[in-house]
Amino acid sequence: MDKRYDIAVVGAGIVGLACALAAARRGLSVVVIDRDAQANGASIRNFGFVTVTGQPRGLVWRRAHRSRAVWDEVAAEAGISVLQRGLWLPVRRPEAVAVLDAFMATEMGEGCRLLTADEARVRAPEATGPETAATLWSPHDLRVDSRTAIPRLAAWLADRYGVVFLRQTAVHAVEPPRIVTARGVIEAGAAVVCPGDDFASLFPDRLSSAGLVRCKLQMMRLASPGFTLPAPVMSDLGLVRYGGYADLPEATALRARLQAEQGDALANGVHLIAVQDADGALVVGDSHHDAATPDPFAGEAVDRLILDEWRAATGRPAPPVLQRWTGTYARGPHASLIEAPHPRVRLALVTAGNGASTGFAFGEEVIANLFEETSEP
Ligand SMILES: Cc1cc2nc3c(=O)[nH]c(=O)nc-3n(C[C@H](O)[C@H](O)[C@H](O)COP(=O)(O)OP(=O)(O)OC[C@H]3O[C@@H](n4cnc5c(N)ncnc54)[C@H](O)[C@@H]3O)c2cc1C
Repeated sequence: MDKRYDIAVVGAGIVGLACALAAARRGLSVVVIDRDAQANGASIRNFGFVTVTGQPRGLVWRRAHRSRAVWDEVAAEAGISVLQRGLWLPVRRPEAVAVLDAFMATEMGEGCRLLTADEARVRAPEATGPETAATLWSPHDLRVDSRTAIPRLAAWLADRYGVVFLRQTAVHAVEPPRIVTARGVIEAGAAVVCPGDDFASLFPDRLSSAGLVRCKLQMMRLASPGFTLPAPVMSDLGLVRYGGYADLPEATALRARLQAEQGDALANGVHLIAVQDADGALVVGDSHHDAATPDPFAGEAVDRLILDEWRAATGRPAPPVLQRWTGTYARGPHASLIEAPHPRVRLALVTAGNGASTGFAFGEEVIANLFEETSEP
């Protein structure tokens, strides 16, 4: 053992990297340990959509605002391209327009605009379908390509702050100053465990009592549609999934109508997010199925529901599918979990499927909790 670190972070997904950044910005020496050779979990399987608009009101919405600001800082310094900005949310049903009207009347609507169908058609004709009744435009969100952004973020943490990465190293026990790995013991004064949806390897009793499940999502990459999206696209179905809209009283009528008209989509947790890569290709999803261990199989019927929603929202045919994959994330009764299984250890999970959107702010909270608070979290 030749070095003692101030802090060890287990897990090199976005939550672990966010904790590493927050610790490094305090001048602490940091080691990040991950069992995989490179990030391969939810953090690179996602849309890279840093969603502010529609996050649940209060804490999560504030975290998303803060995280978006950190993404902007980090992207500029680390050479990560911000590929899209904003949100384009065309809706088709009067019940959905009522939800958006109500949303605009809250503090969450600040800076957003609710466009009529004609205004939307002028601004982005390709992303406005014949059934579009109104479109929410928000400037608050951004999108990176996680497949390249996460590796670049890790490389920048190493270059800029001297964060050390130990890859292909499983962690078996976290008892500062001893961090026991499959390759030997690391010494660290404190530790943060960010295991994503691995509830079995470290502190399994703590995690099993937290009411967590693993949620499986289906995703596709489609060929370029031949036009540029005005921003990441969502649709009516998103208004009953994202708490910023879904928790408004007006969402009840929309949910009832969607249940009658798109019951299959609701039963499979399908809604639409479509984002665009630099080469024009689209990343489109997704669905939600919970299980203790989700199977790895992507059902064609579920993919069809997602593609149907793209067609309905934009009025455009779905381009050919280039890739399909599934991803899983930790889902729980609360937006996140911070536990202290040891005075100098924090167990830290984002449990609402929005780690790309809230992770940086969450990481700052976790590190503040670890170093500034004396009581249990
Ligand atoms: C398909 C999909 C789409 C999504 N889209 C979005 C989106 O657009 N916007 C958004 O905000 N969120 C999105 N999410 C959610 C977001 O991706 C997750 O909330 C986030 O990536 C979780 O990050 P994490 O670091 O906790 O987990 P992970 O990325 O899973 O990383 C956990 C890491 O911990 C390591 N690890 C675990 N245990 C150990 C151990 N004992 N020893 C060593 N290493 C260990 C694993 O190897 C892994 O690398 C999406 C998720 C999915 C699956």
